[in-house]
Amino acid sequence: MAVVAFWLLFVAFVGAFAGQVARRVQLIAIAPNTFSFDNLGFRVNRFLVDVVFQARTIRERPIAGIAHAFVFWGFVAFGGYTLTEFLRGLGIVDLTHTTWFTAYRLALTPFAVAVLGGILFLLIRRAFVRPVGLGTKVSIESIVIALFIATLMVTYLLTFRMEEGTMAEQVNWWVHMLVILAFMALIPASKHFHLVVSPITVLLKSPELGNLPNLDFEKEQVGLETVKDLGSKSVLDAFTCVECGRCQVNCPAWGAGKELNPKTIILQTKDALLAGGRDRKLGEIYSEKVLWQCTTCGACENQCPVGIEHLPVLIGSRRGLVSNGDAPDYLGAMYNNLERRSNIWGLGYDQRTKFVQSSGLETFDAAKHDVLVWLGCAGSFDADFQKSLRSLFAILRAKEVRFGVLAKERCNGDPAKRTGNEYMFQELANGNIEDLKASGVKKILTSCPHCVKTIGDDYRKFGYEVEIVHTSVYVEELLRQSSAALSGPRETVTYHDPCYLGRYAGKVDEPRNLLTRFGADIVEPERNRDNPYCCGAGGGLLFADKEEEPGTRISDVRFKQLQATGANTVVTACPFCSIMLKGAQASAQADTQFVDLMTYVNGKLQPRA
Ligand code: SF4
Ligand code: SF4
Repeated sequence: MAVVAFWLLFVAFVGAFAGQVARRVQLIAIAPNTFSFDNLGFRVNRFLVDVVFQARTIRERPIAGIAHAFVFWGFVAFGGYTLTEFLRGLGIVDLTHTTWFTAYRLALTPFAVAVLGGILFLLIRRAFVRPVGLGTKVSIESIVIALFIATLMVTYLLTFRMEEGTMAEQVNWWVHMLVILAFMALIPASKHFHLVVSPITVLLKSPELGNLPNLDFEKEQVGLETVKDLGSKSVLDAFTCVECGRCQVNCPAWGAGKELNPKTIILQTKDALLAGGRDRKLGEIYSEKVLWQCTTCGACENQCPVGIEHLPVLIGSRRGLVSNGDAPDYLGAMYNNLERRSNIWGLGYDQRTKFVQSSGLETFDAAKHDVLVWLGCAGSFDADFQKSLRSLFAILRAKEVRFGVLAKERCNGDPAKRTGNEYMFQELANGNIEDLKASGVKKILTSCPHCVKTIGDDYRKFGYEVEIVHTSVYVEELLRQSSAALSGPRETVTYHDPCYLGRYAGKVDEPRNLLTRFGADIVEPERNRDNPYCCGAGGGLLFADKEEEPGTRISDVRFKQLQATGANTVVTACPFCSIMLKGAQASAQADTQFVDLMTYVNGKLQPRA
């Protein structure tokens, strides 16, 4: 009788679970395939670190992360126990009196205690502490799930206090099993579905942060316009979100009071998919205005503990808007500049030529030069940044590095790519690749982190591979053996990590090594190293009309964080960070001094030359 009743309940609850899962699997299956297993070694390694050892979960929120890890490890450890009890309940086979099960059951005790402690901590945090990233409302669903997990652990622990076959033991067993069945029926529609799918999502997450595969125009790809255009990985992502809010609290746009919230983007995607209107326009679901607020800093993707990638959705949707001529006016002006003059400011090419000549630069010759210095738009046209490049040239010459520049450079295409103008990006990229190939260059040196990302990662997608190094990395190595280290008075500075250098390229030690070696004591700002707060320039926002921005300017927020260190000197290593932060400094009428890293280092070297 009990077996029949258990079978009926099992079929009902497992049916409810399977029906909901089938709906989600179907939505993934009909989406354009964007799954990839390239670089499998990297993926497996990250799976071990982020899923098995829960490193990303623990890193930002150590106490809550460890509590979560206890629950996860307990969930895995109890898998065999649950299966064995189901086999018994369904009358298939009773293995509960075997020696191995007795030992296994005993070994689960510390896991149960850890899970119970962890889940009670998370329950209190969610119900009473309520961190901002978790949202303002208490999630009843989360409370129920937490109570379910606690009940499972308590009923398991009680088995050690009960005689087998007694009424109390029977009631305890039924409570345990019914909670598991109810839990199964509840999870697919809840954020706890991540228990099932997040290991797969982490494995499928691109090894490259901010991975934006090229559009294939021959296949008439134009980007994401409607729900049915969302790729399979983005659909899987939508069903994986655990609503932890890590992406939200790390997003500079959200932090500066804009409407963009990366967590909301993922949840809106999930709701739109489940609602079924596959022809609904993404620009309406997310709101076009919000889509243009992303700086592409990568903080959301980088912080997400379950492998969700926000940028393919955000930039993919921008691509869809641009292909329909719906880009904001300020981007239209920048695109015009790129089209007419191949640089973001639309300046005459003679200005670059003058800089090249006045700096005594030679045209790159593979037989004569060791490296090619890529000037970039800022290096070619921004007088302020050219001072930094002159410092770089002085360092290279002092160390007898043989370098040259291309006779002609176009913008690398980053502002077009990150704002969704893929056609323009490909035009620029293909022209540059042709010139770079013709020059025979093997190693490129640049002071612009955006050039590092675009030429290094995005050009590779055209089959062009070249070593590209940021100047902070190259010069740090070059001067490592230098006898020029200072012994004089030291200076307190703060260092602003550019997103595309610290987060995207992971280069956080080299700039610091240079600074400390050349007389600086660094005071770290809030948000540093591989999780910096953005300057606000990326994703085309360098060109946005600042007066029309909602909330505070991102650059103002970052400037205040840098000011709060108390250091009077801020060192930067990206021309666009420099432009944005100097703008914020001017608005604040502060006397903070901004110095580019190369200028700082060369300034310390010169007196000893
Ligand atoms: S990339 Fe940066 S600005 Fe864009 S949504 Fe993510 S965290 Fe926010
Ligand atoms: S997208 Fe990732 S980081 Fe953001 S709320 Fe969801 S699970 Fe958390």
